[in-house]
Amino acid sequence: MRSQVLVVEDEPRIATALRDYLEASEFEVTVLDRGDLVTDWLRLNHADAVLLDVMLPGIDGLTLCREIRRASEIPILMLTARVEDVDRLLGLELGADDYICKPFNLREVVLRLRAVLRRFHATATSGDLLPFELDTDRLEVVHDGRKLALTPVETRLLAKLCERPGKIYSRSQLQDAAYDDHRVVNDRTVDSHVRNLRRKLESFGLDPIASVYGVGFRLQL
Ligand code: CA
Repeated sequence: MRSQVLVVEDEPRIATALRDYLEASEFEVTVLDRGDLVTDWLRLNHADAVLLDVMLPGIDGLTLCREIRRASEIPILMLTARVEDVDRLLGLELGADDYICKPFNLREVVLRLRAVLRRFHATATSGDLLPFELDTDRLEVVHDGRKLALTPVETRLLAKLCERPGKIYSRSQLQDAAYDDHRVVNDRTVDSHVRNLRRKLESFGLDPIASVYGVGFRLQL
């Protein structure tokens, strides 16, 4: 069955290019050119994912992203011309699943859209896709019958990344997850724990943590 994508983009040239390319890639597409039409549309229609521009007439994409997320877990892929927005987009505040910077390559839009849909369905159905088991009580990773000891901070970091494989977590989100006591640590601290975690997992031949330049980390399957 074809996935239904809602494209919210006010620039006609870009909207048409997205529609044509997505339809040619087996998606069903609806295009809206104003932000203030979106929540009503989503209430009355089904969509599997939303491709959402940031700068829109009516309601801007950032506000809209937060509103959609309040009501639903639907995958949201943001289109932005401003790299400065990226950290907020992916942060807890807004909760977008991924972003693409303009100008973009249409092929990449399709790949990223397929990836967010795949991740969404994978996490909705099972966590069995992980190549290892994380035992958060024993502070261990189990793989192929072998065990690996983690520190409490490493365990919490990995558990956070495993919550939504593929989703990008910012350093501040990981920091909040790693330290219950809201201790003030700097970005470098998160990086050094991630580095240690990677080194440990490498001893199992696993390399599941990917850096996302300038933003944070994601678990890749
Ligand atoms: Ca726009």
